[in-house]
Amino acid sequence: MSIRVIPIGGFNEVGKNMTAIDLGEDVIILDGGFHLPAIVALQESERVYSEKKFRSIGAIPDDLILDKLGLRKKVRAIIPSHAHLDHIGALPYIANRYNADIIATPFTIEVLKSLLRDEKIQTRNKLISVQPNGHHYVQGKNRKYKVEFINITHSTIHSALLAIHTPDGVILYSNDFKLDDNPILGQKPNYEKMKEIAKIGVKVLICDSLYADANRKTASEKVARTMLEDVLLSTDSRNQGLIVTTFSSHIARLKSITDFGKKLNRKIVFMGRSLAKYTNAAAKVNSCPFRKDIEIVTYRHQLEKKLKQIAQNRAEYMIVCTGHQGEPGSILDRLARNKLHYQLNKNDHLVFSSSVIPTEITIENRNALDTRLKKKGIRMFNNIHVSGHGGREDIRDLINLLNPEHIIPAHGPHEKTQPLIELGKEMGYKPKFLHLTSNHAQLKL
Ligand SMILES: [Zn+2]
Repeated sequence: MSIRVIPIGGFNEVGKNMTAIDLGEDVIILDGGFHLPAIVALQESERVYSEKKFRSIGAIPDDLILDKLGLRKKVRAIIPSHAHLDHIGALPYIANRYNADIIATPFTIEVLKSLLRDEKIQTRNKLISVQPNGHHYVQGKNRKYKVEFINITHSTIHSALLAIHTPDGVILYSNDFKLDDNPILGQKPNYEKMKEIAKIGVKVLICDSLYADANRKTASEKVARTMLEDVLLSTDSRNQGLIVTTFSSHIARLKSITDFGKKLNRKIVFMGRSLAKYTNAAAKVNSCPFRKDIEIVTYRHQLEKKLKQIAQNRAEYMIVCTGHQGEPGSILDRLARNKLHYQLNKNDHLVFSSSVIPTEITIENRNALDTRLKKKGIRMFNNIHVSGHGGREDIRDLINLLNPEHIIPAHGPHEKTQPLIELGKEMGYKPKFLHLTSNHAQLKL
């Protein structure tokens, strides 16, 4: 059997991840994400979402390559690795093109369902949930392929290393991962299963290389929890307002924030549709242990009413909200612009449990937000955060665990992927087994 890997998106940019695996009679698609900067750049009036619109601005992977190669009808399964939008955001718009099931972990499926609901999109694809560390058989034309969802740690729950068993060995897809033995929520990486897969033989590792150039092992989520504890419990916020902002999909982080909010005896209020979406999806799959400890407000009138209430007794509450990237229209942006019934006071505490995503537009948005906030004299606590992506030493450990024959660095342009090629050489790989690649290339292994 010949294996052909076709990078579709995420190899010339950070985002719109998508890779197709051509196994001769059958094709399996891994991920189908958004290119978020293209969407953030849209003006509010332009936000009429459609496949056509997204293709025209390059916000979704250019999967028409599969039509050109005569492969579209051979696609048997679409398998997203986790619930981040740069891995599943495009699926509501393109999955319909394929007569294929979408198979993912339960949280990933719940988030995908909510995206479909929000956009009122009916999909012909069957959605199939597989538990972390579970497996599923994909029916090909003449054979079945076992696909394992190996539990891995990242910055959202139910992230999986995807292992596709083929007669020629295992195809291992590791977008995105870090190796975290203290993930706060969910299980540790399944090292035993990785060793087992290595024994069977990994033909190719398609590997997250976003931080392959960073000489580090990415710190555990436990470290982010300690940083939060430090800033929330060891600074005096008595009599002051307290606002925390973080990634809506980072359920483990939200758990830590909630835990410390409780220690401060504050009522915890989550604000915004995005937080509601991910928290409720986690609750549906029994992975939101703090759901009973929080109140969620989303709709405008609900939000205004609650903020008025909080403004009268600000020291009794902790607000958890969106807007850490300075996104226009987010709760934090509206608070900073005095568009809501809550006046940010001098000496209110504002914790960013996040770091700024290094794209031009987010840096610009965040600078504008910071300028407004500084004028108000509030106390800001920045970068109370650790990344969800492994550094060079996580990647080295993963390669040692899996011992792949071929390595294809993924999750970015050459500036991100080249350092993983260097790491491979350093580890004794011959150049012919290391593949620096681009969208729409075709790699025959
Ligand atoms: Zn991710």
